[in-house]
Amino acid sequence: MKNYNIAIIKGDGIGPEIIDEAIKVLDAVASVENVSFAYEEALMGGCAYDITGDPLPQETIRISMKSDAVLFGAIGGEKWDDLPREKRPESGLLRFRKELGVFANLRPAVVYDELVNASSLKPEIVKGVDLMVVRELIGGIYFGEPKGREGDKAYNTMVYTRPEIERIAHVAFKIAMERSKRICSVDKANVLDVSQLWREVVEEIATEYPEVELTHMYVDNAAMQLIRDPKQFDVILTGNIFGDILSDEASMLSGSIGLLPSASVGSKIGVYEPIHGSAPDIAGQGISNPIATISSASMMLRYALNENAAADRIDAAIQRTLAEGYRTKDLANYDAKEICSTSEMGSIIANYTVK
Ligand code: NAD
Repeated sequence: MKNYNIAIIKGDGIGPEIIDEAIKVLDAVASVENVSFAYEEALMGGCAYDITGDPLPQETIRISMKSDAVLFGAIGGEKWDDLPREKRPESGLLRFRKELGVFANLRPAVVYDELVNASSLKPEIVKGVDLMVVRELIGGIYFGEPKGREGDKAYNTMVYTRPEIERIAHVAFKIAMERSKRICSVDKANVLDVSQLWREVVEEIATEYPEVELTHMYVDNAAMQLIRDPKQFDVILTGNIFGDILSDEASMLSGSIGLLPSASVGSKIGVYEPIHGSAPDIAGQGISNPIATISSASMMLRYALNENAAADRIDAAIQRTLAEGYRTKDLANYDAKEICSTSEMGSIIANYTVK
């Protein structure tokens, strides 16, 4: 029996209700696979500010650093929007990612067959989409120096160093080895020096993974191709700003923000979280969709703990739940046979996880 310590950060808004369902499913998987989980809760976001005066208490970093992985809900809400920038929940999250050194953001975009009609694209374009954006998270133009403003002139700098490109490329190639062994690296090498280095280094790393087929695409073309024919992609490897935009674009292929998980990983502890925020408009009503968070728990099992069988069980349970027509309110208009509450959805998936 393998025992894992999981740091749990529920956060604000719908965070607590969606995390409770992910824990329900993890406990279900533990009852049938040879694993057990010990959870330790930590505060972050507005709730942490209310109690401690800091959106990211030191104790949260301590608990996270000694865990095997962090399962994260969502933070933020209007109540805290007028605080000084460093006290805001979002600043806590950025600081947290930096402290944990999570340099790679993994965002799968999967279109479930049962929900092809939920996408804003035609069903024949999106049916079967299953891709993964691997985005560099703590470098590039969002962090580069110099940056600043001088009156009517303002500037930011896109900087990447060889080691930064190497480490994100290795993450992408390792993931490609587990998937269909295809990577498309996205850059703007026809214009940017930094992209020329990016392309050069990615080519070099590719020689260490001879089984993986590497192609390159300019970011403007990639944005277009994602809408024209998203099925051509498997793993997309890209830098911070391009990945920010492309991963949001890719997420909309699937139809609901309530479905999509993400992982932020580095050399230490990874953070597994839904791509959506704290949805204050629906918090406490029991109508939020917990699938993105349950799916994030599955990514945690796969990428942090190497428990692929347990992750497969959860993915299959989600698929079956959707195939049988269970929907939370956000997906009520798409082939729903039964509308469930957040907690009912979690229970159904937990139930199918053990069957
Ligand atoms: P949001 O993602 O919270 O919500 C956008 C819309 O999607 C809302 O209508 C919401 O009801 C709906 N939605 C989101 N998740 C859902 C789910 N699981 N099930 C059903 N519907 C869902 O984005 P927002 O409204 O722009 O931001 C709200 C707060 O969340 C803000 O304070 C923002 O800063 C914060 N935020 C946090 C994170 C994070 O914690 N990682 C990410 C994005 C936004």
